[in-house]
Amino acid sequence: MDNERYKRLRDADHRHLWHPFTQMRAWLADDEPLIVERGDGNWLIDVNGRRYLDGVSSLWCNVHGHRKPALDAALSEQLGKIAHSTMLGMSSVPAIELARELIAIAPSGLTRVFYSDSGAEAVEVALRIATQYWQLRGETRRTKFLTLTESYHGDTAGSASLGYSEIFHRYLKPILFPVLKIDPPHLFRFARGLDPTAAEAAAIAAARNLIVVYRDELAGLVIEPMMQGAAGMWNHSADFLRAITKLAREAGTLVIFDEVAVGFGRTGRMFASEHAGVAPDLMCLGKGITGGYLPLAATLATEAMFDAFLGEPHEYRAFYYGHTYTGNPLAASVALANLGIFRDERVIERIQERIVQMRAGLERRFAGHPHVADIRQVGLMVGIEIMEDAGRRTPYPSRLLTGARIARAARKRGVAIRPLGDVIVLMPPLSITFDELDLLLGATRESLDEITSV
Ligand code: PLP
Repeated sequence: MDNERYKRLRDADHRHLWHPFTQMRAWLADDEPLIVERGDGNWLIDVNGRRYLDGVSSLWCNVHGHRKPALDAALSEQLGKIAHSTMLGMSSVPAIELARELIAIAPSGLTRVFYSDSGAEAVEVALRIATQYWQLRGETRRTKFLTLTESYHGDTAGSASLGYSEIFHRYLKPILFPVLKIDPPHLFRFARGLDPTAAEAAAIAAARNLIVVYRDELAGLVIEPMMQGAAGMWNHSADFLRAITKLAREAGTLVIFDEVAVGFGRTGRMFASEHAGVAPDLMCLGKGITGGYLPLAATLATEAMFDAFLGEPHEYRAFYYGHTYTGNPLAASVALANLGIFRDERVIERIQERIVQMRAGLERRFAGHPHVADIRQVGLMVGIEIMEDAGRRTPYPSRLLTGARIARAARKRGVAIRPLGDVIVLMPPLSITFDELDLLLGATRESLDEITSV
């Protein structure tokens, strides 16, 4: 780590950058930050030429690996035409073609695509479409949203209101709007000591009670289907998803799926809602939509939602929302190529083997470990919950930063992972190979032992 260029970059980083979700005092005290320069398949390569397996897909977005030739080519080709033009008052070829392809693979009933630039904005758009929809329909009391406790929907003020997290958003609380919360089965199971079946029944019963009280005021249910990612990889069953969706439908409210993290194959299906065979009124997409190449997001809507906004221009019923780079042609063209890879390389079919390997590897290397309190997996999304005493469910004191130290120990073994507190997250690109997945699991287990045996 004594390369001169590395030191110059590190010092400039320390002098000028402010990193997201980062306690900068700790960052500045670290004189060996990882500085990425290149990518190669499922690997990150730092400025010193060291290679790290991208164990969390560059924050859950990379899908087919880095420098994927078909994606690089799509981007270069589009660059030879135009980098950006606006969606306000005109259209563009990639934005149109991508919309057509997204609708072709989306859950039934979704017919319209509204673009934005990040997952948080995709949720913000859903929130605003839903709110305006009810106002336009004359059901003006429907202004309340229902979400799962500890759900995460992004970091704009609107999406942070929906997905309020005490750790992330408490200083923002004075300006956030109130949201109704349903405790998911995970909380009943872990905070209240129930078995999985009882936990699910209790969560559904509690949700029913809440929905009955507010049924005429509900604008929509917003949910991360199958897996609450940032909460700490809290999974729920397809039955729970079906039940909760049914309750929302019975209350006459909208169903909004946030597939920003779970979409594009992560759970073993193209979209996580496919596990339950349920379709939403609005669906939020981001992260993997471009294969992890460029910032692009989309909110898909049904024709009924879309129709409510129609009218004469002077009636001002339009959806007045947008950003400068909405529907960016470079991002849309790489997203289109991403969908092409899913189809041509039969990605969803191919990853089933990796999912089975993941399950077996987790069982073999982590089940029964004295510091592993829980292992949660849906497809290639995994959370391994680390505790001081797994049997008694005693967590490590947070000041020990156990999860972060395990991730740091993994880096020495050539694996880049980022935990959520003391939950180790494994979420590799869908293109991970047998040997790479074996390395990811093995290095994570060794790192866990190294840190927890002290
Ligand atoms: N929704 C979910 C479920 C997420 O996991 C995330 C990010 O992790 C977001 C929304 C926000 O996406 P972005 O970071 O692109 O704004």
